[in-house]
Amino acid sequence: MRRIAEAATRGPWGLNPIKAQVDEMNTLEPVCALLWPTELRTEEQTIANGEHVAAFDPPTVLALLDEIEKLRQELAVLKPVYDEARMGSCGDCDQAMREAPMRDEDEVLGPCDVCEEMYAAVERAEAYYWRRDTERGVGA
Ligand SMILES: [Zn+2]
Repeated sequence: MRRIAEAATRGPWGLNPIKAQVDEMNTLEPVCALLWPTELRTEEQTIANGEHVAAFDPPTVLALLDEIEKLRQELAVLKPVYDEARMGSCGDCDQAMREAPMRDEDEVLGPCDVCEEMYAAVERAEAYYWRRDTERGVGA
């Protein structure tokens, strides 16, 4: 997709409804012409299609691809942290858990503030991903 966007004329593009075409905005050179409306496509839909083509001009597509790449890199960094947070607890709590059998019942404490915060963040993240996947219909 990047190769296609980089090969296209630079943009930005805009709809020229008078000439029923998408133009290169800086030069007003036509990029592509719109087809006449048919029985299957109204004039409004034809214009909407032209606006869509113009809105997804090369600079926009390249910016979207850059954003996706940036988010993928962030995810690659954050996913292992998330997975670890999901499974574990801080060093202090790990230590307390290991020593728990050797302590009196009332001496064993719940998770510390750091762990509580981490568990809450994991819950928020899981709720977010569950909602997002549900909205996308993933697994449905
Ligand atoms: Zn802890």
